Amino acid sequence: MSEKTVIVVVEDDPNIADLVDMYLRGDDHRVYQASTGEKALDIIGQRSPDLVILDIGLPGHIDGFECCRRIRASSDVPVIMLTARDDEIDRVVGFELGADDYVTKPFSPRELAARVKAVLRRSRTSHDSTSSVHEFGKVVIDSSRREALVGGDPTPLTAQEFSLLLFLIENCGFALSRRQILDGAWEADWVGDERTVDVHVRQLRRKLGPDLPLSTVSGTGYRLG
Ligand code: CA
Repeated sequence: MSEKTVIVVVEDDPNIADLVDMYLRGDDHRVYQASTGEKALDIIGQRSPDLVILDIGLPGHIDGFECCRRIRASSDVPVIMLTARDDEIDRVVGFELGADDYVTKPFSPRELAARVKAVLRRSRTSHDSTSSVHEFGKVVIDSSRREALVGGDPTPLTAQEFSLLLFLIENCGFALSRRQILDGAWEADWVGDERTVDVHVRQLRRKLGPDLPLSTVSGTGYRLG
């Protein structure tokens, strides 16, 4: 890769921020640090990063959830959230707000670096997939331009939502179990439970509306088409 990827690390604990910064720099990323949500939004606006690592507990008016919501209002940059506890509620809220992945503290820098690599790879893959346009009523999915349109209006999807959608399109007409969907649309090293699929399906339905023929197959999982 000739150009360095740009990563914004949003974390108010300077020890963690410096450790992550040092480790990712060693991995040939350009890293910017922000200690509050306000600073993070400024830097993200200026630098158009390839990835954001976002702590949930931040001082000031904008915590990690609110920061994620505001990032998503204008950008589909991949977001990895950091949380102090392995709390299912945090995880579900984070995914609903458009986070792409989750890392629970304490984490090793190596584990985080692996997640960073996986999320970046996923977002590049969805950007590079071969040209094709799929239409479902008012919903148009252009996989090469990585664009979803509803009634002609662009609808931002996160990298993970897009990856899920492409997997459903590839397997159009087949009932898929949550496990098959996790295996096909999530990174191999992703760890989490099958309810993650439900959360992302709910997001796709909410964003793309009733024209997306995505049905729940009772006792199995989901089917597109
Ligand atoms: Ca914190």
